[in-house]
Amino acid sequence: MIMKFRRLSSDVVKNRNVLVRVDFNVPMDNGVVTDDTRIRAHMDTLELLLENAEKVVLISHLGRPKGVPSAEFSTRQLVDKVGEIYGRKVRFCEECIGSQVQESLDILKKGELLLLENIRFHPEETKNDMNFAEQMAKPFDLFVMDAFSASHRAHSSTNAIQRVLPSYAGKLMETEVTSLASVKDDPEEPFVLLLGGAKVSDKIGVLETLMPKTSAVLIGGGMAFTFLQAKGFEVGLSLLEEEKIDFARAMINRADELGVDLVLPVDVVVSDSPGSDSETQLVDVGKIPSDLMGLDIGPETVELFGSYLSKARTILWNGPMGVFEKKGFEKGTERLAEKVSEQTLRGCLTVVGGGDTASAVNKFGYSKKVSHVSTGGGASLEFFEDKVLPGIEPLLIE
Ligand code: ADP
Ligand code: MG
Repeated sequence: MIMKFRRLSSDVVKNRNVLVRVDFNVPMDNGVVTDDTRIRAHMDTLELLLENAEKVVLISHLGRPKGVPSAEFSTRQLVDKVGEIYGRKVRFCEECIGSQVQESLDILKKGELLLLENIRFHPEETKNDMNFAEQMAKPFDLFVMDAFSASHRAHSSTNAIQRVLPSYAGKLMETEVTSLASVKDDPEEPFVLLLGGAKVSDKIGVLETLMPKTSAVLIGGGMAFTFLQAKGFEVGLSLLEEEKIDFARAMINRADELGVDLVLPVDVVVSDSPGSDSETQLVDVGKIPSDLMGLDIGPETVELFGSYLSKARTILWNGPMGVFEKKGFEKGTERLAEKVSEQTLRGCLTVVGGGDTASAVNKFGYSKKVSHVSTGGGASLEFFEDKVLPGIEPLLIE
C-alpha cells in the first residue's frame, strides 16, 4: 500500500498560526537533557514553518505525568535546549489550552517559537477527548503532525485534534513513513531482518508480519536465548521467556516452510552479571555454563550474521545484539553496526528502528552511515504490524 498524505508546504502555512505536535520526550537527568536527538529530528519541519508560517507553536508530552502537573515533567526544562538547537528565541507558556495560550500567541513574533506546557498534565490528553482537542485547537488555523514516535497513540494531540483543524504531515513524519513503508511494502530482495534486544514479546508482530518477505531473519540479543532453548540448547542464566518458547518453535517451523533462513548465534559472550567489571568468557552455544548468562554475541556469530548482511539489498535492524551499554558486551552490536553501514555504502537500504538500537548506533558513530534511523520505538514496531496508526490515519488522502 502506498501511503499518500497531506504534505506540508510553504504555501499552505503562509500567514497561518500553526500548532505543531512534536515529540520532545527526551531522556532527562536532573533537569538536563541527556540525548537531544528527538529535538533535532524536527529540524526540517520547524525550519520550513519558521520561514513561512505566521506563528509557530509547539506541543509535546514529556514522560508520564499521568494527568498531574509537576516540575519534574515540565517542558519548561527544554526551552534553553530548543533555543540552542534552533537558534531562535523560544518562549514558554505554562498552559497548553485556554486564555494563557492566546495571550502568549499575541506577543509571539514571526521567527520565534512558543513551547506549550506538557500536554499530559491534562488527563483528557490520553483519552483522545474531542472537547479537549477543540480547546487545544482554538487559537490556531492549522495543525502539523510531526510526532511519528507518538503516532501509535490515539491521544487528543495526535488523533482527535486532526478532526478539528486542517492537518498536515510534517517533514519528519513524511521521512519516517516513506522509509519504513519502503521496507515494509516493497523491500528489494534479498531482505534481511536483524532482530535483537531484550524481549521476544516486543518483536512478535514484526516477526510475524515481515518474515514472509525476508530471505533471512538473524536473531541475536537477549531474545535469541528463547529461540535457542526452543531448539533444545541449555542457556544457563541467560534471559529466557518461558511462555514464548512455543512461539519461538512455531517461528522456526514457519521459517522452514517459507524457505527463510532463521539464523541464531553460534557463540556467545557469557558472564555472571551484566556489570561493567564482570569477568567474561567466550563459549559456543550449547556450552553455556548453567551458572552464567549470555550477554553478547561472539565473533563467529558476527561473521555469520555479516555474511547474510553483505548479500542484502534491504536490511531492517531492530534490537541490540547484546548489553551494549556495558563494556565487555558491546562488541557484537558495534561490529554489526559497522557491517550495516558498509552495506549502506553498497546501495543497500538500511533502516534502524527501536529506541535502544538507535542509541546504540548513535553511540558507536554510525547513525549518519545508515539510510534511516527511526525516532519511533513503539510506533515503528506497530507500523510494521500492518496497522494504520491513529496519528497517521487522519492525514491520509484517498
Ligand atoms: P529497542 O529499544 O531497540 O527496540 P529493546 O528495548 O528490545 O531494543 O532491547 C534493548 C535492551 O536489550 C538493551 O537495554 C540491552 O541491554 C538488552 N539486551 C540485549 N542483549 C541482551 C542479553 N543478551 N541479555 C540481556 N539483555 C540484553
Ligand atoms: Mg527499548
